[in-house]
Amino acid sequence: MDGSKELFLKYLGQTSPYPLGLEVSRAEGCYLYDPSGKKYLDLISGCSVSNLGHSHPHIIEAIREQAGLYLHTMVYGELIQSPQVMYAKELINNLPESLSQVFFVNSGSEAVEGALKLAKRYTGRHELVCFTNAYHGSTHGALSVMGNETYKTVFRPLVPSVRILEFNNIDSLNAISIATAAVIIEPIQAEAGIISGEINFFKALSNRCREVGALLLFDEIQTGFGRTGTLFAFEQLGVVPDILLLAKALGGGMPLGAFIASADIMNSLTHDPVLGHITTFGGHPVCCAAGLASLQIILEQKLFTRARDLEKLIREKLHHPAILEIRGKGLLLAAKLDSEDRVHQFFNLSLENGLLFDYFLFCKDSIRIAPPLVMSDGEVTEMCNLIIDTIDQTNR
Ligand code: PMP
Repeated sequence: MDGSKELFLKYLGQTSPYPLGLEVSRAEGCYLYDPSGKKYLDLISGCSVSNLGHSHPHIIEAIREQAGLYLHTMVYGELIQSPQVMYAKELINNLPESLSQVFFVNSGSEAVEGALKLAKRYTGRHELVCFTNAYHGSTHGALSVMGNETYKTVFRPLVPSVRILEFNNIDSLNAISIATAAVIIEPIQAEAGIISGEINFFKALSNRCREVGALLLFDEIQTGFGRTGTLFAFEQLGVVPDILLLAKALGGGMPLGAFIASADIMNSLTHDPVLGHITTFGGHPVCCAAGLASLQIILEQKLFTRARDLEKLIREKLHHPAILEIRGKGLLLAAKLDSEDRVHQFFNLSLENGLLFDYFLFCKDSIRIAPPLVMSDGEVTEMCNLIIDTIDQTNR
């Protein structure tokens, strides 16, 4: 296998002029390994995907078992595939009663697309509301509800009738009206640099949506599956969404997305026209088997509680004069440094120091700290020491 950087740059479409460019030969637990055997502590879990770390034996076993039975058989929604049914049942068992049906897709962006369409179809309205610095994905619909203009301008025209309101500002909520089909929001804004939603704001938002008949969509694509200290972040806000959007850790390391709603809402995709949303690979049986194995372990080992304990440990151990603040909950954290330049230097030093790190999309003065939830206390201490040593090597 030749994965050299020249071939990587030559043959693969690139997303930026400065990819991390680390060749991975294997990954296990909280570490990735390059071909020389050097190990890298995973600070970011593939952007909130690998909540159980890498190559978890139960997930690998579930993948093997399902791969031995069948792979893709038919487009989503036609055949009864037990990994889909079993996983949907387990998800629903762990959600409030009003969230009762799961529509599986392939990715976060596709969950956003499906959920926005569902809200438009159910309400018969077309206005969409989102918030400043929100990130919901890269496809046209998801990009349309991004709360940051930099990444949108050159791709316009996008989906029309999108309003962007200020996150955590109760006064801005009056703009949600009887014309609004959907309000899409992250309980904790991830790519904005881990900005937690305030309880009062979310209560007011939920009330406003009920008042005007708009559907409330929670994007828990990054906050889901124990990362913030509860299975889902909305549990800490005392507000239940009309549609819940999941992806990333949903597949236990395999590509999977979902939107979840009441049967009444979900049913509107089945008629006038029929096949209101379709997907070939959505809910791939191997991905569902992997996701179910992952969720079972998260529940059995109460990894949401562990995420809270590890947050405490990080807040205890991670001190440096250049760290001005640690934001976030559980293992979805951001350490704000005293300058963007220092974060840039940190990025440049991280691989050399055995840390796998990447920037937030909309926040350049903070370090993303979102390691696997299965980290041992020793690994958390090692992670904090590596972060401190790396900051020490930046210019003061
Ligand atoms: N919503 C949020 C909050 C995300 O963080 C992301 C991905 N970073 C997405 C949606 C889009 O997911 P995907 O990349 O799987 O399309």
